[in-house]
Amino acid sequence: MASFDYDLFVIGGGSGGVRSGRLAAAMGKKVAIAEEFRYGGTCVIRGCVPKKLYVYASQFAEHFEDAEGFGWTVGESTFDWKKLVAAKDKEITRLEGLYQKGLANAGAEILHTRAELAGPNTIKLLDSGKTVTAERIVIAVGGHPSAHDALPGNELCISSNEAFDLPELPKSIVIAGGGYIAVEFANIFHGLGVETTLIYRGKEILSRFDQDMRRGLHAAMEQKGIRILCEDLIQSVSKNVDGKLVAETMKHGALTADQVMLALGRMPNTKGLGLEAAGVAVNERGAIIIDAFSRTSAPGVYALGDVTDRVQLTPVAIHEAMCFIETEYKGNPTSPDHDLIATAVFSQPEIGTVGLSEDEAAKKFEDLEIYRAEFRPMKATLSGRSEKTIMKLVVNAVDRKVLGAHILGHEAGEMAQLLGITLKTGCTKDDFDRTMAVHPTASEELVTMYNPSYRIKNGERIG
Ligand code: NDP
Repeated sequence: MASFDYDLFVIGGGSGGVRSGRLAAAMGKKVAIAEEFRYGGTCVIRGCVPKKLYVYASQFAEHFEDAEGFGWTVGESTFDWKKLVAAKDKEITRLEGLYQKGLANAGAEILHTRAELAGPNTIKLLDSGKTVTAERIVIAVGGHPSAHDALPGNELCISSNEAFDLPELPKSIVIAGGGYIAVEFANIFHGLGVETTLIYRGKEILSRFDQDMRRGLHAAMEQKGIRILCEDLIQSVSKNVDGKLVAETMKHGALTADQVMLALGRMPNTKGLGLEAAGVAVNERGAIIIDAFSRTSAPGVYALGDVTDRVQLTPVAIHEAMCFIETEYKGNPTSPDHDLIATAVFSQPEIGTVGLSEDEAAKKFEDLEIYRAEFRPMKATLSGRSEKTIMKLVVNAVDRKVLGAHILGHEAGEMAQLLGITLKTGCTKDDFDRTMAVHPTASEELVTMYNPSYRIKNGERIG
């Protein structure tokens, strides 16, 4: 039997890589993990975690305004961008330390270098030029924001990577895209006082979400003062004599701003990784092709998380890592379950969702009941803020199964997590109906919508 330097070598210290490396090491396997940037990966260093911290930061202006309706007088307030960036840096450095501590405690060898495949079972460490071997290799190198090379002037634009650490808070920003990142950052920048324009090629933002959520969020964002330009594209970006950026659009003329941010999707980090040397096949987007057990086309090489282009979400990468461990080290073949993934958009208001949108369900099922509630959240009565919460259940009329649950409103992400469990267990609308409400909450609406708002039969809305 061939002998290797390691049982497992993990390339990439993000969510999927760290979880697989830590669990394997804790089982007594000889594990090394290599990361070229910072441990924690996109999620911790320049994604989910700093994003959520910035969402909190961006909400205070509204909190101060709302306070008046509850009898408070809040004095003049100011915001210091540099202070926020520094506080964020401190927190992500702490988390980065925890990730490494977890690996070290489990007994994994932590390497701070870029690692590339150099052949079957062989990895090259770029800092030392050393080559090591491993029985199994996990590639969990994630992705990066699409640079949109076809756009003239794209080098003048920023992506979410830079947005977290801008030396100054811009006075104005144009954000291209209509997905998670574009929408979340439009709300963050607007909340911090930046004049914000969102430009999106489609008819309505957030193309993969339920129409009610999309329209409701669009209206709420515009009401706050975010300019949203749909069915339009940036054609070029240039710098004018004042140093401002000018984005020429197809339909809305020139948009001038301090920053232009591109949030047009993310690409897998497979360039230069030596995949050909090891016989690892990729698809047309450069994502690693895997089977149901995260096995690549090369024996002993596995791929997890965003680099595989399945579902680009942190918990999905972690789940895929745990399935890899079950399959390869616990003798329990487990393929990742990508069905009914609950997700949230940390827009303001948030969207929390799980399961099928009304349109998706209408394509698959003949007879649907749609339960929909739209109301003013309780806090808004005294704050005077005009805002709406929307809740929606998509139900199969034949067996009463809840196919989709969608919420636009405060803490929708928190609610989506619990709805995720509910739908995963295959709950019916009758289960919702016999559940006692928690009062007074917004989520009680979910169990008190007794009559369908309308039905969809063979794709046609009735009522
Ligand atoms: P998304 O895939 O969510 O959105 C990309 C957006 O860019 C879409 O609106 C898409 O339009 C548009 N687009 C793509 N190509 C072009 C083009 N050539 N010209 C104009 N528009 C274009 O990607 P993001 O970058 O927002 O985020 C990447 C991933 O990261 C997400 O898919 C998500 O899985 C994950 N993420 C999750 C978060 C969360 O859980 N809260 C937060 C942030 C990111 P169209 O819709 O028409 O295709």
